[in-house]
Amino acid sequence: MKKARWVIVFFLALAVGLTFGVPQKSAAGMKFFTIGTGGVTGVYYPTGGAIARIVNAKKKEYGMRLTVESTGGSVYNINAIMSGDLDFGIVQSDRQYQAYYGAPNSEWAGRPQKDLRAIFSIHPEMVTLVAAVDAGINSIKDLKGKRVNIGNPGSGQRQNSIDALAAVGIDYRKDIIAEGLKAAEAPGMLQDGRIDAFFYTVGHPSGAIKEATSGTRKVKFIPIVLPDEFYKKFPYYAPAKIPVSLYPKAENKEDVPTFGVKATFVTSARMEDKYVYYLVKEIFEHFEEFKKMHPAYQVLTKESMLEGLSAPIHPGALKYYREVGLIK
Ligand code: GLU
Repeated sequence: MKKARWVIVFFLALAVGLTFGVPQKSAAGMKFFTIGTGGVTGVYYPTGGAIARIVNAKKKEYGMRLTVESTGGSVYNINAIMSGDLDFGIVQSDRQYQAYYGAPNSEWAGRPQKDLRAIFSIHPEMVTLVAAVDAGINSIKDLKGKRVNIGNPGSGQRQNSIDALAAVGIDYRKDIIAEGLKAAEAPGMLQDGRIDAFFYTVGHPSGAIKEATSGTRKVKFIPIVLPDEFYKKFPYYAPAKIPVSLYPKAENKEDVPTFGVKATFVTSARMEDKYVYYLVKEIFEHFEEFKKMHPAYQVLTKESMLEGLSAPIHPGALKYYREVGLIK
């Protein structure tokens, strides 16, 4: 008798399991991937969102779903991809180069990240130096003795700030009061009078720079004009201009010269080819839709998205680029 009851319980449990097991089964077939971005007021974060929105429209078909995480930036993203904590990430082109080759004076000196793989590049990013007008800063040299946010460890911009300062003879460890704040915190600190200036390597327009330029404390962009030797020493940097029309409340009247890099999309060699292929295919086949998702993408062409990549292109991406003839 007891045995019969157990048999009934067993079959009931099986039936319940089967009924509720069906949706679970398809959920189990779905792979979840996380994209590491940057601060929420930067351009990486909405970029991760734009990529996810396009690719997730086919989530059932591909069995993949992308989610976006706000992070400390490029260096954090590369390290987290290498350790397996993130699947994809947006990183500066200079940081991609340094990590892949284990460049001296970088976080990866002597430790080349040979498993780093490039997928495509995205918008241009400019090394943006924002200063309070009342701080009396007219050139990068005037930062001497000032309180300046050079960027959090883990961010892409920190090394850009250090390189720019060093190029004009400023040692960030002793000639300025260097802060290591996250980019999202810097505009508020500038407005509150707790810092005089900050660096942010970012696409334009960005929420952070809008926030910095629209408070009651007047701010302006400081030009960073460096000699040819600088570009010879750091071949991954190129001269660039900040379009001031995007920030009507900044004091500048003309576009501001500086230098820049590119935002790039990366993963690890361990990532399965098919998922990278699906992702690239969706972004390239919805290219016009993608371009409309952020004003920083205005200048993008499909060809430009294959420039500025130093790590080998992931085979899943390469397959798509060959198929459509973007790479012969
Ligand atoms: N370039 C910055 C970094 O690598 C992030 C910029 C952004 O979030 O748009 O840390």
